[in-house]
Amino acid sequence: MTLHQHRGVRHQVVFRTLEVLRVERLTPHMQRITFGGEALRGFISAAPDDHVKLFFPNSRGELVTPTLGPNGPEYPPGREPSPMRDYTPRRHDADANELVVDFVLHGDGPASSWAEQAQPGQRLGAGGPRGSFVVADDYDRYVLIGDETALPAVGRWLEEMPAGARAQVLLEIPGAADRQALSSRAHLDLAWFERDGRDGAASDLLEQGLRALPATEGDSFYWIATESRRARAMRQFLNLELGVPKESVRATGYWKSGEDDEDD
Ligand SMILES: Cc1cc2nc3c(=O)[nH]c(=O)nc-3n(C[C@H](O)[C@H](O)[C@H](O)COP(=O)(O)OP(=O)(O)OC[C@H]3O[C@@H](n4cnc5c(N)ncnc54)[C@H](O)[C@@H]3O)c2cc1C
Repeated sequence: MTLHQHRGVRHQVVFRTLEVLRVERLTPHMQRITFGGEALRGFISAAPDDHVKLFFPNSRGELVTPTLGPNGPEYPPGREPSPMRDYTPRRHDADANELVVDFVLHGDGPASSWAEQAQPGQRLGAGGPRGSFVVADDYDRYVLIGDETALPAVGRWLEEMPAGARAQVLLEIPGAADRQALSSRAHLDLAWFERDGRDGAASDLLEQGLRALPATEGDSFYWIATESRRARAMRQFLNLELGVPKESVRATGYWKSGEDDEDD
């Protein structure tokens, strides 16, 4: 087996205020928001599953964001901090000074509610990315598995993959209208799974798809992003039942059923 070398890259943490330039409803459950503003200059995102911390208006409608103190982020005393959530830089265009973020509209929570009403001219706080995990590019196959919150990372990864790479992609979405056109130079084998009213935390469509994947010659890298419990269960299946080495699996809970993500 080849020894695949992943690379961790640290970035200087910068807190910025971003301005909404454009809002576009991509699909019924996905709002694409393009941000700009002078503060975006110098933004770096080195890997498709990077994330930024976005800060949304608090209950008073104010953006109260931290500054970087000697002991980490510090909020102004006596003010209600802005709720903070993780989002993927779907596309960053340094020349145009624009950052695209795709927001799932799941109906609840400060981030989803904000994205649903977003208008050009509004502002958000953003911090990071603090680091990037650059996956080795010499696997024979990349298996990318995720629900709609993973679509931004998967879409970006596919766009950045070179010709000759092989991607096997399993994507779970609320319904057929939530499919997106995904482009890639890689050899792409893509399967959509539609929940059609089933709950995103209780569904097992991706798990079934994973179990049904054809075995291949050579090494596969597995990337998984779903509701936390599901991501953990798929990681265990790969490591314990299929014997996939730990370093060839990156499984992350992108949201937690029944909980907000405030403490992450
Ligand atoms: C590294 C990383 C990258 C991410 N990138 C993206 C991204 O690019 N786009 C994106 O849309 N999301 C992304 N997410 C997921 C996003 O951070 C969470 O869905 C977040 O909880 C949304 O915040 P909220 O304020 O809308 O809801 P919260 O206040 O966190 O939660 C409110 C309620 O909604 C539920 N809930 C939260 N998210 C979902 C969901 N997706 N489906 C159904 N119910 C949900 C919670 O269980 C809770 O009951 C990412 C997460 C991580 C960790």
